[in-house]
Amino acid sequence: MTTPLTNTFMEGGKELGFDNIDCNGGKEEGFCHAQFNTANGVRCSTFHGFLKPAMGRINLHVSTESVATKIIMQGRQAVGVEFIRDGRKHRVHTAKEVIISGGSVESPKLLMLSGIGPKKHLNSLAIPVVADLPVGENLQDHLVLGLAHCINQSISITLEKATSLSSMLQYQILGTGNMFQNLVSLQNIFGDEVIVVDNHFDIQCNFKCNISKTFFQVSEKYYHCSGEGFVNLVVLLHEKSRGTITLQSTDPFDPPLIGPNYLEHPDDTNTYIKGIRTHQKLMATSAFRKLGITKQEPLSACSDHVYDTDEY
Ligand SMILES: Cc1cc2nc3c(=O)[nH]c(=O)nc-3n(C[C@H](O)[C@H](O)[C@H](O)COP(=O)(O)OP(=O)(O)OC[C@H]3O[C@@H](n4cnc5c(N)ncnc54)[C@H](O)[C@@H]3O)c2cc1C
Repeated sequence: MTTPLTNTFMEGGKELGFDNIDCNGGKEEGFCHAQFNTANGVRCSTFHGFLKPAMGRINLHVSTESVATKIIMQGRQAVGVEFIRDGRKHRVHTAKEVIISGGSVESPKLLMLSGIGPKKHLNSLAIPVVADLPVGENLQDHLVLGLAHCINQSISITLEKATSLSSMLQYQILGTGNMFQNLVSLQNIFGDEVIVVDNHFDIQCNFKCNISKTFFQVSEKYYHCSGEGFVNLVVLLHEKSRGTITLQSTDPFDPPLIGPNYLEHPDDTNTYIKGIRTHQKLMATSAFRKLGITKQEPLSACSDHVYDTDEY
């Protein structure tokens, strides 16, 4: 699905010498229309795609509103899971194995609560150690920097347009329109000059045809922005910095401590700067200049540095 803004993005890419590509095709470097798994204008979630069709199986039991609090261990083997539902503790035992899929933050937390983690850290919380392993020591979070610009044309998807009665009706009846476009009008660029090693791409940009209400409120003061605009999300793909997940207590309902360590590795900073410079070149193309885009204003928090230098 295309919009005037996504077309601008593709045109700007061409001006910079990038091909328009199929980002799930053989070539990854270039500009493409983002691809999503959707049905009737709704993004297909894991639940709808995989779980719902399997709900009738007799060997599948799903317990909702349940929080796993511990993996039950027998020696060094996982034999079940302890969980809390409606304030009551339950235990289920397995015939074969336990698969943890609590996400990249909660999975290490559950492992550590179960005694699988760095010995020193578990000892500090008096958790009996089952296996001394570097759980939580390899967090790799893709840092995202949103570079937002206001424009002087009415071609983005503002909150007012997306939530207007006609948009809602169009979405409900046909599964199309501004509400749907808000979902699909993302595109990617895989940077050229930001390739460092291993033949992989280090930067991805996701282009969104709207600006957030918060940005709009802040930027209105500086830019006299009408609410029309876009955001280019510059994403670091292969960061070398490593963060940590640790427990703050033995209470399974306490969130863990996240130490992201963003940009700790100097290569990450350098790659990020190249990504931002590519964004600036894109904004300088005639395709984008036609939109009357606003410039980024210097941030007062960074006033120690000269604006638009690498140090800034
Ligand atoms: C903003 C954002 C945008 C993204 N966009 C994309 C994209 O466009 N394409 C793409 O491919 N990927 C995308 N990703 C990445 C993708 O979402 C993740 O890689 C994926 O969801 C990981 O799946 P998972 O099952 O491991 O964990 P999750 O999806 O995090 O699922 C973990 C689940 O476990 C539950 N849980 C956690 N702890 C417990 C517990 N103790 N007891 C019971 N339940 C528990 C959580 O509530 C959650 O429902 C995006 C991620 C983010 C944050």
